[in-house]
Amino acid sequence: VDDVDGNFVRTVKDCIFSKSIPTPLKGPLRLAAVSKEVVEETLDLDVVLTQSEDFLQFASGGKLMSGSVPLTHRYGGHQFGYWAGQLGDGRAHLLGQYLNRKGETWELQLKGSGKTPYSRSGDGRAVIRSSVREFLCSEAMHFLGVPTSRAASLIVSEEPVLRDQFYNGNVDTERGAVVLRVAKSWFRFGSLEILAKSGETDLLRKLLDFVIEEHFPSIVSDDPDKYLVFYSTVVNETAHLIGQWMSIGFAHGVCNTDNFSLLSITIDYGPFGFMEAYDPNFVPNSSDDEGRYRIGAQADVGLFNLQKLQEALNPVLTQKQQRAANMILKGFTGIYQMRIQQLFRGKLGLRDEDEEDGLLIALLLKMMEETKSDFTMTFRQLSEASQLQLHSRNVSQMWALYDLSQHVHFSDWLRMYLLRISRLKKSRSFNKKCVNPRYVLRNWMAELAIRKAEKNDFSQVAMLHRILASPFVTQTTAEDAGYASRPPRWSQRLKVSCSS
Ligand code: AMP
Ligand code: MG
Ligand code: MG
Repeated sequence: VDDVDGNFVRTVKDCIFSKSIPTPLKGPLRLAAVSKEVVEETLDLDVVLTQSEDFLQFASGGKLMSGSVPLTHRYGGHQFGYWAGQLGDGRAHLLGQYLNRKGETWELQLKGSGKTPYSRSGDGRAVIRSSVREFLCSEAMHFLGVPTSRAASLIVSEEPVLRDQFYNGNVDTERGAVVLRVAKSWFRFGSLEILAKSGETDLLRKLLDFVIEEHFPSIVSDDPDKYLVFYSTVVNETAHLIGQWMSIGFAHGVCNTDNFSLLSITIDYGPFGFMEAYDPNFVPNSSDDEGRYRIGAQADVGLFNLQKLQEALNPVLTQKQQRAANMILKGFTGIYQMRIQQLFRGKLGLRDEDEEDGLLIALLLKMMEETKSDFTMTFRQLSEASQLQLHSRNVSQMWALYDLSQHVHFSDWLRMYLLRISRLKKSRSFNKKCVNPRYVLRNWMAELAIRKAEKNDFSQVAMLHRILASPFVTQTTAEDAGYASRPPRWSQRLKVSCSS
């Protein structure tokens, strides 16, 4: 930990954390959302207590829990392909580790809690809009079965926060909010990169040893190849994570190395998006002009980021180990492709493997692209339609499948699919608890909830949170709200940028 005190912006050397006290928000504070599951199961706290003034203070940075020494993390990163130097927690405070009743250790972090040594030109704040999105999406991802940081609470304030809203060219006054988020660890690729770039090899080794000791229990501390095993695990798990993103149509939006977790969990929810009409060129972030982080490029970007991670590990690897790390990196694409095939076979209800599955999947995606079929609902309806319905091409009641059926090759594809099903050892079957969700957090759904939240009506945030906690189960409230219907026309005009 850095010896210098105070939140003034500076270049920090020879440390992993800097002490930094959160800056309280202007009140009154309001609890806009709370995750009962996180609060009770992870933090051992009765959810009723979140209604107290004390909780509002603790969960927004107004008061510190006894024993908490808030820290901000020094990290760097490659942003949009280029080394950006020191970044760090510019608006987040780590409150400490919490060891819960189950014996699990969780790191508690506030986001939007004020300036830190790493704020650069930023104000240390987060607005309601982006905080609602982070709260809802990280929770939604968890229930979709994707490894992710989680959100315990969302607190909104009366603190004015200025943001440049790109779409009208004006600077708007919004309000500050704080999300209390939890993860097993917040360390990122960039945590190691900055130490390697600054030649702080002893500290690099120390951080690696710590991360391995705490989070990679299967790696033994006296293994001479432990950093290599660590690297291989991260390569493998990152391939799996990106595979999972792709299987639900999730585009992270800002896949910089500082937003890639060493534990391969999804972190830092900014201008993310769930793809609606299938399109490999879908770019959720309207500030990403080149489409560097388009959905179809996420695996390539993962590979790029893992190469940067490898470079960060080089100072602690022997020449021989560096060559081995090269080989490990080369394996990424194969692992990813295997995972994707497995996930998409699952989405088609195919419980065994066939040589032609790759083709079957690729043709389907191509047709979806050409008919702009909705990614989530096409797969959902394909799994909801009975084989009899599919045989008779009777899909006019299913809007996404209907769109797909307009493709000239739809019948051919369906014939191929049904033939494949007939060759299955068992029948077509879907894992209804984790495959083909009916509800994902579409931008328009978040937008409606945000508009109300900005007027202190948090009912729709709560409704979405509840619905997205069971994304695989058909729910009346969700159906009534149109969450599984064709997206409204106005939703096409929505844009999300880095401004948050
Ligand atoms: P992100 O694009 O969200 O991953 O953020 C990149 C870097 O900018 C991180 O170091 C953040 O802490 C920092 N940052 C983003 N927004 C702010 C803000 N409002 N104030 C201070 N730092 C910020
Ligand atoms: Mg970030
Ligand atoms: Mg961010």
